[in-house]
Amino acid sequence: MTRRVTILGATGSIGQNTIDLIARDQGRFSVVALTGGQNIARLAADARALRAELAVTADPALLGPLREALAGSDVEAAAGPEALVEAARRPADWIMSAIVGAAGLQPGLAALEQGTVLALANKETLVTAGPLVMRTAAAHGATILPVDSEHSAVFQAMLGEDMSSVERIILTASGGAFRDWPLEQLPEATLAQASTHPNWDMGQRITIDSASMFNKALEVIEAKEFFDIAPERIEVLIHPESMIHAVVGHIDGGMLAHLGAPDMRHAIGYALNHPERAPLPVERLELAKLGQLTFRAPDPARYPALDLARQVMARGGLSGAVFNAAKEKALDLFIAGQVRFTEMADLVKFALDQADTHSGLIDAEISLDNILKADHFARCQAEAAMAQRQR
Ligand code: NAD
Ligand code: MG
Repeated sequence: MTRRVTILGATGSIGQNTIDLIARDQGRFSVVALTGGQNIARLAADARALRAELAVTADPALLGPLREALAGSDVEAAAGPEALVEAARRPADWIMSAIVGAAGLQPGLAALEQGTVLALANKETLVTAGPLVMRTAAAHGATILPVDSEHSAVFQAMLGEDMSSVERIILTASGGAFRDWPLEQLPEATLAQASTHPNWDMGQRITIDSASMFNKALEVIEAKEFFDIAPERIEVLIHPESMIHAVVGHIDGGMLAHLGAPDMRHAIGYALNHPERAPLPVERLELAKLGQLTFRAPDPARYPALDLARQVMARGGLSGAVFNAAKEKALDLFIAGQVRFTEMADLVKFALDQADTHSGLIDAEISLDNILKADHFARCQAEAAMAQRQR
């Protein structure tokens, strides 16, 4: 029987890697829906090639061009945020959540509400709404499989183990584009420099977040929410080669590491074939050729985002939604050339501090409405912080 699959964020880096795997094995899969943003040509070409039932662009203004690009095919076209949620509601056996940012939350929740398997690349879903997401999955009998490479690695290293035997989880980080820069040069880092990753080929936003380690900060929170583990048991380790994706330390002192080439098709393919394993077209590591793997502790002065994540986990409530939204806004401003690389953390800290003084906002029930309010508040605060600096 073919597996009915949907890819939310099909035109992005994770989406295209998912399509690469599905296209190699078309007999096993039938594609329900593909969604994208501005890249209509890519979306339409993939929808045609994979004979998708539906293609959706997030931008309502692009419905016309999408219809044109799909003319003569059997693929339905739709556009806008509501249509994205509708796409996630279409019955499917497996749904990839690979939209970037908080925009992935509502389609992800809609997918969970149909009780399906959600392959979760969109870490923002768990950072902004962890308890709501886990509750929704449980209520509808849905399964969440982590696709973030570190979380997939932890998941695999824990197979057959009980969470009560886990003492610590170590998430590795490459250290990003500026790991070896002199600290005093960081304020001068350009957009082009921040958009280059030493090991992984990913979307621009997560690549910049890797340079600032906001990505790892999000991942620590993601790990806490997904594995339900105390924050002090989650560690971050710089491992410049990106061959070990995570390590799980057990109460008897044994540590299980997950190794592989830095290629997202491993974590995606693992989730796609779960609970079985299938051959994947990823490079096999030759450890003797590598010779050595290296590790070091992250420097808090270089990566202030890691401390901010600790504050968020200690504060709880809706502070994850504030953190993520302020980070998204700060990143928008950096990409637009309006703040320096090192100012992003200052903007996020300002938003978190402001949210802390509006405790009603942070301590409100973790519902979609309140998450959207906290998100909006945080973006406004990050923007206000920037305006203050420029005065
Ligand atoms: P990307 O920028 O390459 O692709 C993002 C996708 O989302 C595109 O299809 C785009 O059209 C769509 N999109 C963008 N804004 C949207 C909006 N407002 N509404 C609906 N759709 C929108 O991003 P990516 O690197 O593939 O990352 C996707 C997600 O996976 C992110 O949450 C990221 O943190 C996570 N992730 C990515 C990688 C990686 O290797 N790229 C690794 C781990 C986790
Ligand atoms: Mg990751």
